[in-house]
Amino acid sequence: MSDTAYCYHCGTHHPKEEMRQIETKGGKRWRCIKSIAATKQGREEREAFGRQTTAINKAEAQSKKARITLAVER
Ligand SMILES: [Zn+2]
Repeated sequence: MSDTAYCYHCGTHHPKEEMRQIETKGGKRWRCIKSIAATKQGREEREAFGRQTTAINKAEAQSKKARITLAVER
């Protein structure tokens, strides 16, 4: 029989060997590796999306600037 701990992320119990004890504002809590990995992946995806959006915005701003410069020169 394996030890289980309450996973605050899933709201259920998992075997401790599938979990990590992590430090939170409220003290030490158990959280399963699966949910940690899922959150990490989600954050990386959001960051990648953010970088993409920034690049698009920059390109758009540059093309606007280029158009304004052309208009002034004409
Ligand atoms: Zn969990």
